[in-house]
Amino acid sequence: MAVTYNFSAGPAMLPTDVMLKAQQEFINWQGQGCSVMEMSHRSKAYIEVTERATHNLRKLLAVPDDYQVLFTHGGGRGQFSAVPLNLSAAGDHADHLVTGSWSKGAVNEANNYLTADVVGGIDVVDGITQVQPQSQWNLNEKAAYFHYCPNETVEGIEINEVPDTQGVPIVADMSSNILSKQIDVNNYAVIYGGAQKNIGPSGLSVVIVHNSMLDKARIETPSILNYSLIAKHDSMYNTPPTFAWYLAGLVFEWLLDLGGVAEIEKRNKEKSDLLYQAIDNNDFYSNSVAVQNRSRMNVPFHLADTKLDALFLQESEAAGLKALKGHRIVGGMRASIYNAMPIEGVKALIEFMNDFAKRNG
Ligand SMILES: *Cc1c(COP(=O)(O)O)cnc(C)c1O
Repeated sequence: MAVTYNFSAGPAMLPTDVMLKAQQEFINWQGQGCSVMEMSHRSKAYIEVTERATHNLRKLLAVPDDYQVLFTHGGGRGQFSAVPLNLSAAGDHADHLVTGSWSKGAVNEANNYLTADVVGGIDVVDGITQVQPQSQWNLNEKAAYFHYCPNETVEGIEINEVPDTQGVPIVADMSSNILSKQIDVNNYAVIYGGAQKNIGPSGLSVVIVHNSMLDKARIETPSILNYSLIAKHDSMYNTPPTFAWYLAGLVFEWLLDLGGVAEIEKRNKEKSDLLYQAIDNNDFYSNSVAVQNRSRMNVPFHLADTKLDALFLQESEAAGLKALKGHRIVGGMRASIYNAMPIEGVKALIEFMNDFAKRNG
């Protein structure tokens, strides 16, 4: 098989070493005579898997003791409902920063349960998109919480500063940049993410929730979305996505072996810097996000001549560079370069881009 690099936005590529290990022990996991996905989630051996995964995620993000780490179902979108149900009462307001498709999606869902007030968003100045400075947001000190998406997967917009909400609890949808860089968990009331971008297979979501946010769920909250109940049962109130959790555990070990989040942050910076440089240095390509908001995980770019899009996609695919088509609402191309993407993949993409531009410019 020729080398391929998969730039899919999600479900996304996983580290090759992790996939090989999973393959090796797929049928006979740790001498048990069956696959880890064929075992009871109550078995001692499986519980050890979940305890190790939880411990390692805590270690990777330096999660303080007064936070719960939950592994649950329902992806990122499941949390769009879980957050208002667990953190607010009917009639409450919540502040929402809307910087792209996913934070917009969170507003739509939250409005089923409370009043989601859009307090700020993006500005486009001379064709360049940037997140409004916080001085322009209309924060409400009585809001039940403040919700934002620090990395907009579709538009490639990342927010690096933690908002100052004057004590209003901050909820962050980190589906597409969790574990990509160091964060201070203490700044957040809830951090959540679907696993399929930077953690593991789809079907799993991770929630990191401060203890003060527990025991406030509305009476009608479905049990499988209830943070307190999930925490009380060590994320086993119902059968967890066992294989996805196991695989996430392998990814956490891979990340720790590599040197942890500080090391992957360095690599992510290097990879994304190279790619943005290649785009900026060639008139054939463009990215219209302000430098301070450019995502290190999702890099959208346009060809100057959109008539060449189809040929670019056809030839890049043939060159082993997969899934570069941009999201339909943005158009153009998007290279998702999560933790698992090696720098060789980014270099191969840049080489292809330069060559394509030379042949078609
Ligand atoms: C992918 C994504 C989601 C949705 O995840 P699902 O698992 O499909 O529900 C939500 N938020 C962000 C930022 C995402 O990238």
